[in-house]
Amino acid sequence: MKILIKNGRVINPASRTDARFDVLIQDDRIADIAKEIPVEEGDGVIDASGCIVLPGLIDMHVHFREPGREDIETIIGGSRIAAKSGFTSVCTMPNTNPVIDNQALVRFIRLEAEKGPINVFPVATITKGLLGEEISEMGELINAGAVAFSDDGMPVMSSILMRRALEYSRMFDIPVCVHAEDLNLSDDGIMNEGVNSTLLGLKGIPRESEEVMIARDVLLTRLTRGRLHVCHVSSGGSVEIIRRAKSDGIGITCETAPHYFSLTDSAVGEYLAMAKMKPPLRTEEDRRAIIEGLKSGVIDVIATDHAPHPLNEKMQELEYAPFGIIGLETAVPLIVTVLVKQNGFSYHEAFEKVTINPARILKLKRGNLSKGEIADITVIDPDKKVRIDDAFIASKCKNTPFIGMELFGSVEYTICNGNVVHTNK
Ligand SMILES: [Zn+2]
Ligand SMILES: [Zn+2]
Repeated sequence: MKILIKNGRVINPASRTDARFDVLIQDDRIADIAKEIPVEEGDGVIDASGCIVLPGLIDMHVHFREPGREDIETIIGGSRIAAKSGFTSVCTMPNTNPVIDNQALVRFIRLEAEKGPINVFPVATITKGLLGEEISEMGELINAGAVAFSDDGMPVMSSILMRRALEYSRMFDIPVCVHAEDLNLSDDGIMNEGVNSTLLGLKGIPRESEEVMIARDVLLTRLTRGRLHVCHVSSGGSVEIIRRAKSDGIGITCETAPHYFSLTDSAVGEYLAMAKMKPPLRTEEDRRAIIEGLKSGVIDVIATDHAPHPLNEKMQELEYAPFGIIGLETAVPLIVTVLVKQNGFSYHEAFEKVTINPARILKLKRGNLSKGEIADITVIDPDKKVRIDDAFIASKCKNTPFIGMELFGSVEYTICNGNVVHTNK
């Protein structure tokens, strides 16, 4: 079976391709990319007129809650939401119950994912039991299929342990992905510390809670010559520290999430717990710095930190509500609307963050729309509006502050390993 994508604008950040091409898929590979590929009998034809044709999107940071809270989201269910959202590959974070800190559990995730529509690459814990006391058996976890290490949800508070994790992971050339937060400084805060937390009378989390940990980990990465990846960067100060570290040649990469370039802490007053996340939404100045960091390339990746929580848990009083929002389904509309339409990003600048950049960091043979590569492809109509409402959000959990918004960027087709796994037509 062949699939021919006709009349689309092919955007491949990996090769800086931006031109009108037809794309032919045969089995699980991209068989040809050319100006005019004739339709043969039996070919499935996709008309991509008015659309951009991209490498399948990669989200290197999601929480699918399985094992442990399958009532919230499962690996298969989350994969379906990802497919609908244009993602052909995701990395699942290991802070499930039990946590993913042994080979059997890494294999479980991969086996479960095989029943779903997209590629799932498990991240395993940095420390056993996510307790921050003892380093996980990294070699074994990699053999079982782990692509990175993270204690996400929790920081590695011990500096000596972080040093060892970076030294150990260096042997495997695999990134240690950190949730950078000094828990002592966060001190049970629930939103960004600043004018808005004062006005709302809510306990603040200072930006320094994030920044001191990034600064520490940059220094430890310099010491160990390891590979650090900083998750969900939210503050302008963090961008500055990482900019400096990169210019010093330290082996560091980082990601931000769409909410940090779309919203500020004034959203907490409006959307309450729907705007409660860690790290917290910051100020307009920070939002501008995140956009600038993405534009200049200091920030390598956009990852959603997709974190489903049931509404009855999320709609408690702000103080008790869990941190986090879902992010898969709003990712493409926010990237297209905020970065491309409002801030003048080229498609390459915007979409390298969810294709070739995460692929390179994780050494995945994905994220590249070229002849001979695996046929993971996402077709987006950037001028078609979507309304973020209950019908649009297919996730079981609808914990998002973006409900009611109208945004540009509709995912028309998602093709994974040569199979059409989502269509909006
Ligand atoms: Zn985190
Ligand atoms: Zn997370």
